[in-house]
Amino acid sequence: MNIKKICCIGAGYVGGPTMAVIAKQCPHIQVTVVDINENRIAAWNDENLDNLPVFEPGLDEIVKEARGRNLFFSTEVDKAIDEAEMIFISVNTPTKTYGKGKGMAADLKYIELCARQIARVSKQSKIIVEKSTLPVRTASAIKSILDNTGNDVAFQILSNPEFLAEGTAVEDLLSPDRVLIGGDTTPEGEEAIQALADIYANWVPKERILKTNVWSSELSKLTANAFLAQRVSSINAMSEICEKTGADINEVSKAIGMDSRIGSKFLKASVGFGGSCFQKDILNLVYIAKSYGLNEVADYWEQVILMNDHQKQRFSDNIVSTLYNTVSGKKIAFLGWAFKKDTNDTRESAAIKVADNLLNEQAEIAVFDPKVVEERIYADLEYLATRSNEDNRKLLKVIKNPYEVCKNAHAIAVLTEWDEFKTYDWNKIYESMQKPAFIFDGRGVLNKTELENIGFVYYKIGTGK
Ligand code: NAD
Repeated sequence: MNIKKICCIGAGYVGGPTMAVIAKQCPHIQVTVVDINENRIAAWNDENLDNLPVFEPGLDEIVKEARGRNLFFSTEVDKAIDEAEMIFISVNTPTKTYGKGKGMAADLKYIELCARQIARVSKQSKIIVEKSTLPVRTASAIKSILDNTGNDVAFQILSNPEFLAEGTAVEDLLSPDRVLIGGDTTPEGEEAIQALADIYANWVPKERILKTNVWSSELSKLTANAFLAQRVSSINAMSEICEKTGADINEVSKAIGMDSRIGSKFLKASVGFGGSCFQKDILNLVYIAKSYGLNEVADYWEQVILMNDHQKQRFSDNIVSTLYNTVSGKKIAFLGWAFKKDTNDTRESAAIKVADNLLNEQAEIAVFDPKVVEERIYADLEYLATRSNEDNRKLLKVIKNPYEVCKNAHAIAVLTEWDEFKTYDWNKIYESMQKPAFIFDGRGVLNKTELENIGFVYYKIGTGK
């Protein structure tokens, strides 16, 4: 089967970059990305590439090359579904905030809406690709909706989870470690798997395209995120022991990372992981385990989240206790708000929780992030509903200049590992601050010796004083 037209429902952090790269690598395929969010689509179509809704290094160049040629962004969802032979579902699957499974299970309402819309509109058989991260066995729910509410056309459902990491999305998409495609083991299922594999084969070496049954594919994505997050929580757990014992977490990480069975990646201690996926996907895994009565399995994975929450809490507790047990009325400068460098995504960012804790202590926070816009920061705090929006705006200011942010501050908290922080004139910053001038480096990006020589009191996670 030779696919010529693709539609992707959901123009977010996954749908946008993923489809842009498919369009770049497959000029012979027409790719239309649709979304119900008109502002988002308008931003994807903006002449000024600085206004794209997703910031990822290299993405603007790819959009520039393919947009209008074979890459289109549109709000005409029905039309794009109708025309496409293959439809990717890349909508959000947040943690449920209501009803059964509240706070744990994935909310699949957006997925179901897509399935119903596809069923209603489709007049010819189509391949449906789950790009969103979904609980294992979701494909059977999608199939049931398609088969029971559709126009008697045949659907094949594939699972093709996305493993890109924000901040390196373009690189990850251009040369993925692997592409995973799960589908039915019937001849029709295998044909559908092959059709999708053929698209990726335009740029991904064949041995990196992995074919599995649909349940293995769905579960592999949850497993991958659980394992990655688990490494962060494991190293963070060790960082607390380091602080008590005089061991240095960087030296420990290096020593264990050189063991080829362990590997060196994802062993950096920090104020905690964030992002839209790790927490949500682990909670989902915990929920699935519990729903099968696998309580020990559920407890095991839940601990990864608890450790992460603890790491954020103890980071803000340390700021308060170090600043003589009170931050009330003191200015604390935040460098970074995004959940990691090279992205404007702030979902579940550690900065949000640390800010909330310090605001509870009546601190005055000033934030600088190179890519995150002011309204996003206030929206993140508003979402917590800890205090009124008015109070948030009174106590927390967003400032576009890092030197202004640090001026008169009692302490600096580094919450994101943006490279530019390393290049600042730290002498100048020191001069402008209250003394003693404290730095709490939640990402371990700054140079301890250099800063201590200037006069800063410098705290880094996983290093004792
Ligand atoms: P997102 O919130 O950035 O984008 C989702 C988009 O879907 C939104 O723009 C929303 O308006 C749109 N949408 C929702 N319902 C719709 C409908 N019925 N019709 C049309 N559009 C609709 O989310 P995201 O970060 O791109 O994540 C999407 C999925 O991919 C999630 O399941 C996530 O777990 C998974 N994922 C995310 C990442 C990541 O790094 N962000 C990585 C791998 C997988």
